[in-house]
Parts: sequence; C-alpha cells; structure tokens
Amino acid sequence: MIVNSKNEYSEKLWQEALGYFPGGVNSPVRAFRGVGGDPFFTKRAKGSRLWDVDGNEYIDYVCSWGPMILGHAHPKVIHAVQDAARDGTSFGTPNPREVRLAQLVCEAFPSIQKLRFVNSGTEATMSAIRLARGFTKRDKILKFEGCYHGHADALLVKAGSGGVTFDVPDSAGVPVDFARNTLTLPLNNFAALDSVNWRDIACAIIEPIPANMGLIPLKPGFLEKLRKLTQDGGALLILDEVISGFRVARGGAQELYGIQADLTTLGKIIGGGLPVGAFGGRADVMDILAPNGPVYQAGTLSGNPLAMAAGIATLEELSQSGIYQKLDQRAASLCDEWKKIVKGQHARIGSLFCTFFTDREVVDYATAKTSDTKRYARFFHSMLDRGVYLAPSQFEVGFVSLAHTEQDIEQTLRAATEAAKAL
Ligand SMILES: *Cc1c(COP(=O)(O)O)cnc(C)c1O
Repeated sequence: MIVNSKNEYSEKLWQEALGYFPGGVNSPVRAFRGVGGDPFFTKRAKGSRLWDVDGNEYIDYVCSWGPMILGHAHPKVIHAVQDAARDGTSFGTPNPREVRLAQLVCEAFPSIQKLRFVNSGTEATMSAIRLARGFTKRDKILKFEGCYHGHADALLVKAGSGGVTFDVPDSAGVPVDFARNTLTLPLNNFAALDSVNWRDIACAIIEPIPANMGLIPLKPGFLEKLRKLTQDGGALLILDEVISGFRVARGGAQELYGIQADLTTLGKIIGGGLPVGAFGGRADVMDILAPNGPVYQAGTLSGNPLAMAAGIATLEELSQSGIYQKLDQRAASLCDEWKKIVKGQHARIGSLFCTFFTDREVVDYATAKTSDTKRYARFFHSMLDRGVYLAPSQFEVGFVSLAHTEQDIEQTLRAATEAAKAL
C-alpha cells in the first residue's frame, strides 16, 4: 500500500471500510480489483467532476455507472429533491410524482402501456422475469452470454459486469435447479437462435445495447430476428434498457433501432441518481400483477417521492429538442480523437464508449475476453494520475454526460496521449 499526501484520507477510510464491508465496498466493481490499487472516496461531485476526500479532482467518465447523464448535482435535480424532501420522504400511499414520472416514461417508450416503479435495475429485471413466467406459464428463460441484468438468481448465469471482471460468471448460492431453467446463447450468433425450442421459453431477455462486458453492438438484424422468433413461439421479449433507456435516445434502443419489446426494464437515468428501477410493457401482460392478478410484486419504498422527483427533473431536462444530438456530438468529439491515440478495438453508441485492449474484432463474450486487462489497468492508473477517472475495469463502458465540456475533452485527450505513450 502506498500512502502519500495525495490519497492519505482515502487510504484511512479504506482501511476502516475493509473492516465493515466485504472487500471494503457495497458493490464489487468499486473495489478496483479489475485494475489493482485501492479506490478513492468521493466527497463531492459537480458537473463533469469528482473531488475525493484528499481534494484531488477528476474528470468523471463513470457517471455513477450511467445515471448522471446531466452531470453531477444538476441544479434542477437538486432543487426537485429538496422540494420533495420538505413534503416528507415516504408516505406508503400513492403520490402525485409517481403519475408524472410514469407519464414521461410512457411518452418516451410507445411499447410501455403500463409500468411499475421499483428501487433498482435488479428488482426490475427480476420482476419482469417472474411476470413473463406467470403470463406464459412456462419456466425456461433465455439470456445472452456476457449480458448483465442485475443480480437476481435466475440471471446470474454467464452474466457481465462484475461477473466478467472477476471471471466468476456463475455465483455460489444460486441453486443448480434455478440455473437449469436459464438457457444462454452467444451474442450475435444467428444460427444459435434457430437452435432454440421457442415454444418452451417464457421470455428472452437481452441488453439491446450490450454494455456490461465493454460495449458490443449487436449485428444488424439480430434483434429483429429475436423479435420474430419470440413472437412466433409465444415467448415474451424483454429488452433490458437499464443503461440504454434515455441514454442513446429518449426512447432508448427501441427508438434507435425501431423495435418494440413486450416488456422493458429501466433504471439508472430514470432515477436521476436516486435508487429507481421500472418495468413495463403490454397492458395485457402487466395487468396480471397483484392486486389485479396472480403474479406477486411489491415494494415499501417503490415510487418514493424523492426518487420520483429526481427522475422527473432529469427526464424533463432531457426533453429539450436536440439534446441527444448535442450529447452525441460531444461524445464523437472525444472518441474520434481517442481512437487515433489509444490502440485497440473501439466502439461507440451515442454517449457510451469503450476501447478493448485487443487486436481481435470483438463481437461477443469470448472475443471481449481476449483483451489485455493488465495493459488496460496500466492505462487506467495512468489516466487516474492525470485526473481522469475511467471505469475501473476493462469490461465496463465509458459514459459522456451533458456536463462534459469541450475543455474537459481536450484535457482528457491530452492525458490519453501521455498515458498511451507511457504504455
Ligand atoms: C445496471 C444494470 C442492471 C442492474 O441495475 P441495478 O440498479 O444495479 O440493480 C440491470 N441491467 C442492466 C443492463 C444494467 O446495466
């Protein structure tokens, strides 16, 4: 452990945290295991920047893993939360802000006729799977290798995110009997789709923009084929837009690619930095949830007024015309230069970006794993030393926010030039 004045207080907190939390953290990827070293503790964030407890400043491309599309501590979001808090923090009855946020989500996603708010993306996908099973009266579900859908039992099979980083795609504690009902297929493999007996399947769940093993765009026609096969077989299609919803377009990947899900899961951006998830879709499917129907789902804090307020402020801000073009241009001005500086396989969809440190074309989980993670780790630390915070794992994406300025991008590119040389 290197302790110097640059990270003294973070180190002190880290030693305490290690005594309280397994691995020192409340979510695994925060522990820097994918890049080595110890994480910094953030004291404050504003716009594109983070400040740690030792006063170091970073340009932040993690953006709380996606939610902070407006940048940190956006004044409208902060005001909305303050206003809501003055009226009380939780009621346990319906509240008007739930209705407003629902309206904003349904306007953006034509495929969502009805929805439920929950408290995380994990809850959203877990509930959507149960609902799909209840609706179709089938047990088997299908997912794709390297796609991450939160940490519910049935979905922790060949999952991405921390699962790839730690090379333990299956978690201990998940009964074999649960996992047996989860089939997995490689991404972007058209023939594999034909090998499935779709009449047995309750639902297929996929990230329409796979962004939890790095960023791997789907091949043209893959989603369309999956849409058709699920439909023909009486299976539901769940598009997990927890990252891509309100990120790549207002209506997420469904708007971008012109495709409709039976059920959609959302999270991250729709909570504006507070804990929120949602699942929704066809009214005939959603209407079998309790108290209308036999599929149970509930939440003490679901639809929480503070979380709804942050979501409303964020989505209203994102409804300005031209805002996604602006974000796209900002990300392009970073990535177009970045590609020339950093050697590897580059991917960008809107404001999501990723560089795999490999020479192989990356099309799926197996090819993503050919990346030189040690090289990525050296690059990560080199960037961090220069005040730029990238994801502390090769298998996560970068997020550009509306708060990233042209100056931020210039500063980032200067740092990347030096860091690439140092490699
Ligand atoms: C982050 C994420 C989840 C899980 O959301 P949590 O709020 O972390 O539980 C699910 N699906 C996708 C695609 C995600 O990126």
